[in-house]
Amino acid sequence: MREPFSATVLTLFPEAFPGVLGASLIGRALKQQKWQLETLDIRSFSHHKHASVDDTPAGGGPGMVLRPDVAAMAIDSVTDKNRPLIHLSPRGKPLTQTRVRELAAGPGVVLFCSRFEGLDQRVIDGRDMEEMSIGDYVLAGGEVAAQVLIEACVRLLPGVLGDMMSTHEESFEGDLLEYPQYTRPRVWEDQQIPEVLLSGDHGRIARWRREAAIGLTKRVRPDLMDRARHRSKDDEHH
Ligand code: SAH
Repeated sequence: MREPFSATVLTLFPEAFPGVLGASLIGRALKQQKWQLETLDIRSFSHHKHASVDDTPAGGGPGMVLRPDVAAMAIDSVTDKNRPLIHLSPRGKPLTQTRVRELAAGPGVVLFCSRFEGLDQRVIDGRDMEEMSIGDYVLAGGEVAAQVLIEACVRLLPGVLGDMMSTHEESFEGDLLEYPQYTRPRVWEDQQIPEVLLSGDHGRIARWRREAAIGLTKRVRPDLMDRARHRSKDDEHH
């Protein structure tokens, strides 16, 4: 049998975990050991006075930088090296559903959460860390970003969401955002559910949903449409 997906998180704030990962279906799956979560306190690897983990930036400037020696001790304490080592960072590659699917299909992840001004570049290079960003904005630390990455992976694991949700027809599959969803009541504050969705005609419903998805994506995320267009051009050339 396949070992469950295993996430190891290196952090200065282990008390931030499991956080939201302990709630709802993801949390239930954790209790049922369908996936595993381990946190390691970076501070506990410091041999310095007052267990210090940071120091002032070389070259000057505000804030503090995480020391490479302490970070490396924490990283090197992880014995299962089979998993990608990821540094959460606004300078990383943007996390995508494609990368999430790849990670979810593998043995798990080792995530390093920085704080302050970030991590000394020499550990990032020396331990060949993959840098991932969860978006073009700056958080105070990597903990929330790590939870985002883990949640996105774990919801794809077999048996975690069960039949409650399909993960196949949703946003970003085929580079489109998902069509709008409706449920009862049929009329709410004078707004009707689009008639076609109540027609029972599966062909018409599928066409309506596809058109709604395309319209929404064009309006909100033209960049996704461009990507889809380029891809279909590439297909023609091959
Ligand atoms: N001075 C750094 C930002 C430091 S923010 C810079 O300008 O690049 C402190 C830490 O929070 C980062 O080192 C990273 O671990 C985490 N973090 C902040 N924003 C993030 C984002 N968008 N994605 C992933 N991690 C992020």
